[in-house]
Amino acid sequence: MTEQKNIERLAELIKKSKSTVFFGGAGVSTESGVKDYRSEDGLYNTVREYGVPPETILSRSFFERNPETFYDFYRKYFIVEKVKPNAAHTALAELEKRGLMSAVITQNIDGLHQLAGSKNVLELHGTIFKYHCSRCQTEYGIDFLERTEGVPRCEKCGGIVKPDVVLYEEPLDGDIMSRAVREISNAELLIIGGTSLAVYPAAGLLMYFTGKNIVLINKGETPYDGRADLVFRESIGGVLGEAARLAIL
Ligand SMILES: [Zn+2]
Repeated sequence: MTEQKNIERLAELIKKSKSTVFFGGAGVSTESGVKDYRSEDGLYNTVREYGVPPETILSRSFFERNPETFYDFYRKYFIVEKVKPNAAHTALAELEKRGLMSAVITQNIDGLHQLAGSKNVLELHGTIFKYHCSRCQTEYGIDFLERTEGVPRCEKCGGIVKPDVVLYEEPLDGDIMSRAVREISNAELLIIGGTSLAVYPAAGLLMYFTGKNIVLINKGETPYDGRADLVFRESIGGVLGEAARLAIL
């Protein structure tokens, strides 16, 4: 089948499905210019100036030991200005508005789905938009980070303020995980985009899917290609944008 035929099929699946969930990874944001982690051009293969791998910097113990270096890295690579939602984010928000998308489950922390207008977004790895004091738990927004330099300190108690981003060695948020499980269990159609599904918790979550159809949009192969009804190797923005347009017609 040609790509256009497959996109038409995807649009049909979206229209027929009583509950559709999108599960996305870093590849959804790369089309917005956000660096991913594991690809050749990703953070893990290109950031070397700290003398330790970014995976180490992004761990809880490193954050506690060396918050200065953590925040230097974090501010430089995660607080990227002028990043805008792309066609994939916009398509998902539009589908939700029309009642054709139940939930977006994302491994990304950039908040681009919400910026595009999606409401039911489950951020498995947290968000760069929220912060809290590691001592007194006072909450802050990203504006607080932008007003401060280096390691942000709590205005009330002077404690170190930590991003609500899940670091290595930290557990995922139990409430968000159970909501993600519920959404996936109830879904009839699961669209997976921009993730190799190799990393926890992606693969584990997919085990809860008992619906009808799986659609994969990813540049590289995934362990789930064989189980998918449709596999796209093209741009996520291109595929979702066109499929959403056809589904909404
Ligand atoms: Zn505090």
